[in-house]
Amino acid sequence: MTNLQKVKINITERKEKSSEYSLDTIQVTCDKSITETRIKQYYKGLRKETTNTKLAKIEDITRALKYEDTETYLKRYDRTRDCLNIAIQDGDKLIQGRCNQSRLCQNCARAESSQRIEDYKTSLISLAEDRGLYFVTLTAPTCRERELRSTIDKRIKAFAKVKNNINRRHGATLNGLRKLEVTYNKNTDKYHPHFHFLIQGEAEAYLLRDLWLNQFRDASIKAQDIREIKLPNGDTSNLVEVFKYATKGIVTDTIEAHAEYHILRAINRKRIFQTFGELKKVYLEKISDTDNQINDWSAPKREIFAFQNKCRDWTDARGNRLVNLETYQVKRYENVNNEKNGENEQGKNEKISSKSQYGRTRNNREQRESQRKEYFTICERKSDAW
Ligand SMILES: [Zn+2]
Repeated sequence: MTNLQKVKINITERKEKSSEYSLDTIQVTCDKSITETRIKQYYKGLRKETTNTKLAKIEDITRALKYEDTETYLKRYDRTRDCLNIAIQDGDKLIQGRCNQSRLCQNCARAESSQRIEDYKTSLISLAEDRGLYFVTLTAPTCRERELRSTIDKRIKAFAKVKNNINRRHGATLNGLRKLEVTYNKNTDKYHPHFHFLIQGEAEAYLLRDLWLNQFRDASIKAQDIREIKLPNGDTSNLVEVFKYATKGIVTDTIEAHAEYHILRAINRKRIFQTFGELKKVYLEKISDTDNQINDWSAPKREIFAFQNKCRDWTDARGNRLVNLETYQVKRYENVNNEKNGENEQGKNEKISSKSQYGRTRNNREQRESQRKEYFTICERKSDAW
């Protein structure tokens, strides 16, 4: 008997005992129907709401500034607003369209970074096993809004030059990847474009930093950062922060929306992510335009759900919610999972390494949270150094 059938029997039994129980209350209180996919869908709803809120603010700024290419940006916002907006349930399948605009959409940014980890993890693990893998952050002084695009250009060119130098003059090859990030400091009203790298070999990591400093005489050595990144037993959770998308994606006020719009414009048609040397992609599969999931928490049916910002959930025409989970239920589920996994450390490690990006359980959420803090501290500290 499947879990779903058990749940359905429970509902019928309880309904007979007391007519006070509506189907909804039982659905909410029955923990058996809280599944990993349902939790994932819950988080998609939260990210969708954050994205929609950001889009509304950026759209105001875009319309107010009236640049020539305003329409292009407005169309992009529309595409992102449509992302995962409709959920079609067909039997137990849940089908949703994606926008694939990772620079605007939190859900697509997440899917893209997970995809990249999958694509490169085998290669990164073998680079790490041979000579070690280093997380390098390279910065140069912050800049004003009007200089942002040219500053980014300069830094991309500077890196290309350094890479060639390493090859030609030092007889070494850089293996790894680079990712461009741009942050904005509200207090100083300055932008901070910088690079994060994963580089194989300690010597190469330091050589990269030294040659970078030669390119930017006004850059301080203290503002550069090098640390070894471990991938114990093929556990790639340390990579999650490295692969995350450039801006923090949360816009709370007009000033931040303005900065976000300018960052978007400055990185337009620029490569955020680049690999070089021996780092090879393993899967050539592209992220699909549709997000296909299994609905394993409610009865199979044919139904169309539309996203509602207010409840951060999708509802059908009668107002029934698709995910229908409250925060406390999600937290309780995650706590139970943490405890279960804490008891069996061996099992936990197996789980992380054998599961795909989407199947990663929340047992290492705390660990990732602390990594996330450390990562942003690096970025902020670099930004403060100026
Ligand atoms: Zn999207």
